[in-house]
Amino acid sequence: MYNGAMAFLGTAAVSRVLRCRAPLPPLCRAAGRHYSAAAASSTEHQTKEKNVPYQKTLKQDDETYRGPTKSLPRAADAVVIGGGSLGCQTIYHLAKMGMTNVVLLERDRLTAGTTWHTAGLLWQLRPSDTEVELLAHTRNVISSDLEKETGLETGWIQNGGLFIASNKQLWEMTNPDSRTQGRGDLLPNGGGPQGAEIWPDRKAAHVTLLSALATSSWSSNCWGYRQECFLQCCLFVCPQLGKVYGIESYVLSPAETKDLYPLMNVDDLYGTLYVPKDGTMDPAGTCTTLSRAATARGATVIENCPVTGIQVSTDDLGVKRVKAVETPFGSIETPCVVNCAGVWATKLGDMAGVKVPLIAMHHAYVVTERIEGIQNMPNVRDHDASVYLRLQGDALSVGGYEQNPVFWDEVSDKFAFSLFDLDWDVFMQHIEGAVNRVPALEQTGIKSTVCGPESFTADHKPLMGETPEVRGFFLGCGFNSAGMMLGGGCGRELAHWIIHGRPEKDMYGYDIRRFHHSLTNNNRWIRERSHESYAKNYSVVFPFDEPLASRNMRRDPFHQVLQDQGCVFQERHGWERPGWFNREGPAPVLDYDYYGAYELPKNSDYKYNKLLGKEYTFDFPPHHEVIKDECLTCRNGVAVFNMSYFGKFFLTGPDAKKAADWLFTADVNKAPGSTVYTCMLNGKGGAEADLTVSRLEPGAAHLPLAPESNGDAYYLAIGGGVAQHNWCHIQTVLQDQGFRCSLHDHSEDMGMLSIQGPKSRELLQEIVDADLSNEAFPFSSHKVVTAAGHKVRAMRLSFVGELGWELHIPKDSCMPVYQAVMAAGAKHGICNAGYRAIDSLSIEKGYRHWHADLRPDDTPLEAGLAFTCKMKSKIPFLGRDVLEAQKAAGLRRRIVCFTVDEKVPMFGLEAIFRNGVPVGHLRRSEYGYAIDKTIGYGYISDPEGGVANPDFVRSGEFTLERMGVVYKAKAHLKSPFDPENKRVKGIYDAPLDQSHLHKARM
Ligand SMILES: Cc1cc2nc3c(=O)[nH]c(=O)nc-3n(C[C@H](O)[C@H](O)[C@H](O)COP(=O)(O)OP(=O)(O)OC[C@H]3O[C@@H](n4cnc5c(N)ncnc54)[C@H](O)[C@@H]3O)c2cc1C
Repeated sequence: MYNGAMAFLGTAAVSRVLRCRAPLPPLCRAAGRHYSAAAASSTEHQTKEKNVPYQKTLKQDDETYRGPTKSLPRAADAVVIGGGSLGCQTIYHLAKMGMTNVVLLERDRLTAGTTWHTAGLLWQLRPSDTEVELLAHTRNVISSDLEKETGLETGWIQNGGLFIASNKQLWEMTNPDSRTQGRGDLLPNGGGPQGAEIWPDRKAAHVTLLSALATSSWSSNCWGYRQECFLQCCLFVCPQLGKVYGIESYVLSPAETKDLYPLMNVDDLYGTLYVPKDGTMDPAGTCTTLSRAATARGATVIENCPVTGIQVSTDDLGVKRVKAVETPFGSIETPCVVNCAGVWATKLGDMAGVKVPLIAMHHAYVVTERIEGIQNMPNVRDHDASVYLRLQGDALSVGGYEQNPVFWDEVSDKFAFSLFDLDWDVFMQHIEGAVNRVPALEQTGIKSTVCGPESFTADHKPLMGETPEVRGFFLGCGFNSAGMMLGGGCGRELAHWIIHGRPEKDMYGYDIRRFHHSLTNNNRWIRERSHESYAKNYSVVFPFDEPLASRNMRRDPFHQVLQDQGCVFQERHGWERPGWFNREGPAPVLDYDYYGAYELPKNSDYKYNKLLGKEYTFDFPPHHEVIKDECLTCRNGVAVFNMSYFGKFFLTGPDAKKAADWLFTADVNKAPGSTVYTCMLNGKGGAEADLTVSRLEPGAAHLPLAPESNGDAYYLAIGGGVAQHNWCHIQTVLQDQGFRCSLHDHSEDMGMLSIQGPKSRELLQEIVDADLSNEAFPFSSHKVVTAAGHKVRAMRLSFVGELGWELHIPKDSCMPVYQAVMAAGAKHGICNAGYRAIDSLSIEKGYRHWHADLRPDDTPLEAGLAFTCKMKSKIPFLGRDVLEAQKAAGLRRRIVCFTVDEKVPMFGLEAIFRNGVPVGHLRRSEYGYAIDKTIGYGYISDPEGGVANPDFVRSGEFTLERMGVVYKAKAHLKSPFDPENKRVKGIYDAPLDQSHLHKARM
């Protein structure tokens, strides 16, 4: 029988015993409100209040529930909905930044949703530079700022954090046999009870960052040897992080770990990473103190006041804007609503006509009885076992990420300070790993279980920022079990976003505009992708991995014909875009099988999955030679790239020219027929996008190739993965400036083929009716032409640095044009090529990728794109003043290209050293096949604060550090491949060095 004194786990057989357990012993607190199972779906587990191991919650007895705790103001500058971690952090930061006429409305009492029962863990090291900064801010707020401001303690406990690296992981990383199978052939946790199997270990992404952010040179004496293992890299490099972000961390050997944590089994450990200033947040203490501090600055916090409606008005330009918030106790007029309603955020979104793509799931931990000797131990993350162990006074809380999490489909409004019954069948998969790590658990009873609702999203990242549907409606939700630790950093960014129109940091990874609107509205996508992200939360992110969930959402007209030819697709923005071409035949993407969870049949003999699995490596991937062949066929002959997933928009209307001048950094108002590569900036001069803009001839509509226009009209072609972001940026600027223009989306009405390489002209001249000579069709121009009898827009452009044309083709004409291209290309040895080749070819030529080489926190001057800015003209454009000032002051950071002679793969985030001193990290890295070298781009700055001018680059000796090994690197101020841009102009007077081109087709 299970009871409080029963051992945590004896054997696996306990799983069966637990199913007939006696109820947990009644615990100290008197029962409060109960969630009624009757109100939930039939599959819902009965739910009742459980003991949660905190000294206090903010819960009150029912009789004190007497309406709002304060009277409602008539109007406010912003209304924050939800009094959990995010709501409290947001109102605090709004008030701190000076917006004090703000109100927080909480339906129940503060923390009543998910926050009250959180485990409260705060780890400082996460897999991106932005996230490290967000976490650092939360820690500062709760460990220091709030106490200084209010004199109150938040309950922060700095007990440290340990990140476990076990031999099993090391073996998996280094043993090639373990990587030859598809995902799912190796079992985390020794295999869960449901038989769902997912490749373990996402921590490598984290590790990559750690490598990248390393700031001092590698100590070769560290344990006396090095191995090419990401995990080791993490352990070796982490301590150096402190020098960048002030995060103290230590690599401990198994023996040192045992000294620190005597109850830990270290027999299977490779080592651990100890971060002494990690710790544990107290939800009630944090939220009350935030609320006090905000109130002291003039903000208003009102509890017991549910929001029941959101009024939205439509202005003269047809733009929807937030108008007021409704409650049973009156309305508050406001231009800004911040949806911090946790798992209820979807409902709040519905009130405003906004889609909030998150899903509620059960997430749980159990609290043990007292464990002798556990006091003061650090919290533990054991990714191999997919569990965490949190110190709970003299006991532990044990939680983790299952492969078969329970969905909460009918989110109840009555759920406050409530919990679900724990589903032991689901939770049992954590027990073995936990007991393995701390064997004393085997003899320890379980005091209580904590299973509550939490919101999860398609990519395991929060949903933030102003929504595309309604201006003034902001999201601060979908926190994927990290809403305590990310709360402070995200609260501050959200406040900045609301006040200044944009966040301070690069928040694209959290921005709701990263998802296409057709996906945010699709329940299958939300559910499947959220499941996969949850289940893989502790798994390694390998460089060429792809999701298996919710694929084939958006397919272009070439999909089938390319799939038949072995196309291995990548998923971007819901589209299936070609990644590379498998010589061994088709590898279609199948319907999602939930990895066999929920007793669903698993896809058997899944070729696509196996191909992905083969590339689970941080070495050169096994398909390196295939990509090389695609690249070199393009460089030497001709290749066809299907780039149909591009965003294809028309900008028209009476103010189109004014809008184009203001939006685009480059002068796009050349003669009709011109095509210009340009950036779009935010008010801080940061690059929100790069794209090509083609000026169109006025004329009658010929959709989808040309819009109706009497005056100025532009055709915008935008990388498909960021089309929604571009769309929203343009719309926001048009609305803010009051320009009378319209933006039309024809992305799905046209396909796009890019035919590139020295033979492209010869090929295309056979099927196109127009003269393609340099004189008649120069670089950076476009025309509507007839190709194989079909009208298409041909654009002379290249994203790979070759002579080439893009054909923008109405979808019904796509297949005949493709067939004509392939037929004419046969004698030139044409090949299909994918985005893996584009990534390589473009970096070789020095073309930027937005959100890798170019982000909202980089200016075009820093990114080496000054040529896209019309600084010599007098035309004002958004962000121009910042660029002027930056130009006058001299750049403090700049992008630099590096090449490495040694044959070593790099993937971005590797540390850059100048004369042995860290000066930055790579943003992106690929192998360049024509120059036969690894290439990386990264921003560098002078640690002394000086100007990072070309002399600073020329005068330095550079090295790059990958997994603790330092490689000599050559810095280039110009692209190492075709620096004079001859090839795009069709000048092929200097043939490629053929010495290493053995396998290329030409
Ligand atoms: C078991 C478990 C363990 C966790 N452990 C950790 C951890 O270790 N570290 C970590 O960082 N995170 C952890 N998390 C996640 C973290 O607790 C959450 O991400 C965070 O608490 C979410 O805060 P929130 O403010 O977004 O949502 P909530 O706390 O749910 O707040 C939303 C609030 O909105 C209110 N509301 C809803 N509808 C309305 C309405 N109509 N009008 C007014 N108010 C409304 C609700 O009452 C609620 O108070 C854990 C979560 C769980 C479930």
